[in-house]
Amino acid sequence: MPKSILKPQLGEKCGVFGVFGPSLDTSRLTYFGLWSLQHRGQESSGICTSSGKFFSIHRGLGLVANVYSEKNLKKLKGGISIGHNRYATSGGGKIKFAQPVYDDDNRVALAHNGNLPVTKALKVFLKEKGINTFGHNDSNLMHKALQYYLIKGHSIEGALKECFPLFTGAFSLVLMTKNKLVGVRDPMGIRPLSIGKIEGGYVLSSETCALHTVGAKFIRDVKPGEIVVVSKKGIKSTQLVKGEEHLDIFEFVYFARPDSDLLGTSVYQARKRMGALLYKQHKIKADVIIPVPDSATSAALGYSQESGIPLEEALIKNRYIHRTFIKPTQRLRENSVKLKLNPIKSVIKNKRVILVDDSIVRGTTSKNLVKMVKQAGAKEVYMVVSSPPVKFPDFYGIDTPDQSQLIGANKSVEQIRKYIGADKLIFLSLKNLIKAIDLPKVKLTTACFTGEYLIDIGVRNRGRVKYVDL
Ligand code: 5GP
Ligand code: MG
Repeated sequence: MPKSILKPQLGEKCGVFGVFGPSLDTSRLTYFGLWSLQHRGQESSGICTSSGKFFSIHRGLGLVANVYSEKNLKKLKGGISIGHNRYATSGGGKIKFAQPVYDDDNRVALAHNGNLPVTKALKVFLKEKGINTFGHNDSNLMHKALQYYLIKGHSIEGALKECFPLFTGAFSLVLMTKNKLVGVRDPMGIRPLSIGKIEGGYVLSSETCALHTVGAKFIRDVKPGEIVVVSKKGIKSTQLVKGEEHLDIFEFVYFARPDSDLLGTSVYQARKRMGALLYKQHKIKADVIIPVPDSATSAALGYSQESGIPLEEALIKNRYIHRTFIKPTQRLRENSVKLKLNPIKSVIKNKRVILVDDSIVRGTTSKNLVKMVKQAGAKEVYMVVSSPPVKFPDFYGIDTPDQSQLIGANKSVEQIRKYIGADKLIFLSLKNLIKAIDLPKVKLTTACFTGEYLIDIGVRNRGRVKYVDL
């Protein structure tokens, strides 16, 4: 089933994970780490393991559960492993782009979360060196540049130092050489990356929820512009360039799991505060609050606790739908939400319903949800959203294809309300969103709501639909 059937046409962030531990079954730990980062990408998954002498790799399309078997993991033997769950940001969902990026010269393997919107300098550099760039995406190009310097005799730290000016965009990288595990964050810190300590070694993970799964203890986040190298000598940090924290605000809104902490802030608590502030911002009278599972559940709970309106789990999600290659009928395609969610009529009938969702991107899901809840007998449906309208594409790792598809860029709130068929529509203001996250605004990238891009988005800037600030 093409992804567009079940999801808005948005590329997601990816999940990266790595383990260093000479006495540990690192590939198995990485497998369970990836399991906990599944929400960050479902297109493909891969693990690369170093035995100290050579790399072994296993990559495949689909969910972690489908990609690996006991037999695969047994073949991945060694004291260092890195893993990746991918949601295509560039290059589509092809096996050729499944990560970790690897070459059988066994010099470096790379797992990338983020996106380089501009790869011109990188391509020019590689071409000058006679390296073929055709058909490669941003992550492959980064791998090639690092490989070039490693071949020249640089250490991985030295290679990264040389390459840093060429890597223009968002990247949280987990890298591996034959005997080192390396974590890197871009100077803006757009995507998360945390360090954990495990008995006998260290762990790197996109999100802290996966540290807990493998029995690792959170130490700290990798700093923007920093590289962290784990080897037999222990852990070593180098601040490669001056960095400033600007984590993508959408990590708090939608991407991250609620049991993760981002920059020391609990995602769950931040989402609950978003819900509470939504109520404070606009006090609606209603009979019942219904979250759109799973990502809006914490915000709905916050709204319910603040308002005193009861929360009911009246939209039940089918947890097994994920990805299937069987095409739905045209009828199902038109209302794909039905494949995923089913309403409980007895809760909804004759009620004034507050439907809480985390974001409106294209408006298609919201429209179908409102229709579904109305068909289940709701008297009124008030759509309450725990973020402002998404008005700008995100080029740093989610890669919304086109601004023209973002309903918030092209319609006023009132027009959106009409389009989705809701009786009321409330968006959390940016000010309140930041207040809920409880971090200084400068520490967050708000590009998807404000269009304030921190890194050059290059040619992709051209031809963007001019948005009307209503
Ligand atoms: P819309 O109403 O815009 O069609 O869809 C909104 C829904 O998309 C929300 O329920 C939100 O949780 C979800 N969403 C937001 N961002 C992303 C994303 O990057 N990928 C996917 N698959 N869903 C997203
Ligand atoms: Mg959702």
